[in-house]
Amino acid sequence: MKYLSSALCIILLTTTYCITPNTYFSNALCIDNISIIDPELGLIEHQTVIIKEGKILQVLSSGKVNLSSKNRIIDGKDKFLIPGLWDAHVHFAYIEEIAPRMFDLFLAYGITSVRDTGGEIHFTSAWKKKSLKNPTSSPRVMIAGPLLDGIPNVYDGSDHKHPPLSVGLATISDVRNKVNELDSMGVDFLKAYEMLTPNQFEEVMRLAKEKGLNVTGHIPLSMDVISASNAGLNSMEHMRNLELSCAKNSDELLAQRQEILALGKQDIGGILRSKIHALQRPLAIANYDPQRAQEVLDVLAKNETWQIPTLALTTGLTERPFASSKWQETFKYLPDNIELNWKKEIDILMTITPTPFNEKYTEWLTNMVGQVHRTGIEIMAGTDCPIFYLTPGRSLHEELEVLVKAGLTPLEALKTATTNPAKYFNLEKELGTVKETMWADLLILDENPLKDIRNTQKINAVIKQGHYLGRSDLDEMLENLARDK
Ligand SMILES: [Zn+2]
Repeated sequence: MKYLSSALCIILLTTTYCITPNTYFSNALCIDNISIIDPELGLIEHQTVIIKEGKILQVLSSGKVNLSSKNRIIDGKDKFLIPGLWDAHVHFAYIEEIAPRMFDLFLAYGITSVRDTGGEIHFTSAWKKKSLKNPTSSPRVMIAGPLLDGIPNVYDGSDHKHPPLSVGLATISDVRNKVNELDSMGVDFLKAYEMLTPNQFEEVMRLAKEKGLNVTGHIPLSMDVISASNAGLNSMEHMRNLELSCAKNSDELLAQRQEILALGKQDIGGILRSKIHALQRPLAIANYDPQRAQEVLDVLAKNETWQIPTLALTTGLTERPFASSKWQETFKYLPDNIELNWKKEIDILMTITPTPFNEKYTEWLTNMVGQVHRTGIEIMAGTDCPIFYLTPGRSLHEELEVLVKAGLTPLEALKTATTNPAKYFNLEKELGTVKETMWADLLILDENPLKDIRNTQKINAVIKQGHYLGRSDLDEMLENLARDK
């Protein structure tokens, strides 16, 4: 009889129908019978995920495991499990008073990793260290340090819209010294900015390659997109200055810019840059050449120059979702003076009608995001929060919505906020999908985001490195922020 039953189990095992009775996983969290959304494969139903010591220990088909009631079990029936989300473009240093609230805001909205795209190095590095010290109660923080800019630098602290996020580098040796310093301080990538000269930009690229760091950036105004991409630029933020290279008269525009830059060495960086954008962006859009644009995009695809379009930042300019009470409701989680200022500024903004050019540029950029995607260039979802009334955490969901409007499927949009940023930092074996041995950075959703991307907002629980935060925990975090102004 004994022989018979073990033989039966062997037969059942080989046909993979052997249900282990009352399986117990000590010190583990078991999410039972949930639908996993793998950003590359799609929906996988009836899965049981075992989480232990911060990582995913096992992913099993729910029919193949019979969990003992002694386990800590979360019932995943009718729920959806996705990898924790990334916001790939944030600034801890843009409004320093908001920074102490950003960890809780990110986690409460399901953002388990962020990429800080520019700020004073000691400031951003302090937040990174804090996160490393408390990994279960903070998002992961990847930092670039300051924007590497030329002379005059744009973010120089000259007014509140241009806080000192950048360093102004005058020479090639300044570039060398700064990159070495940032590397020794542990930055995860570098960000090149608009006022760099071509020689300085190429030196950033050369040093970054030597050190194994990715470089993101705005295309320097003294260059065109193709030469920046050919120099090895890994990614572009906001698709900034792309339009200048997609125009019939792109060579002429470049020559004109170089002349203005040469004459503007004594100007204030922010003013000089705005002057060039105001002059050339409308000219470039009016002279948009689809064939030339496709040539540029083909180069970006070939060189794998990824895009972080921060599309909601631009569509916000014309669609103004921040004027709605639903949007402004999230302002209560910010310091009192910020809430007040933002509401005042929005009221003023609403009295000014967007120009026909604003509308045209938004339309152009939205179409271009679709085209970038169809050309096979990878995209990462980023928001630029807390710039332009974008509440940290909440804003990423807005970005996912506009990416879908621009032509990505909901699954493709999810990829831009999960597997892609993980790949960007060579972390794809640790983060970005729901697989065994990976960090347990996960979201449980009440509704299927593949049916409607807005369902990423229906967060039932957030798991950060194995630490479970249910809806009531998340609400409590938010209530504390609203109370402690
Ligand atoms: Zn930014």
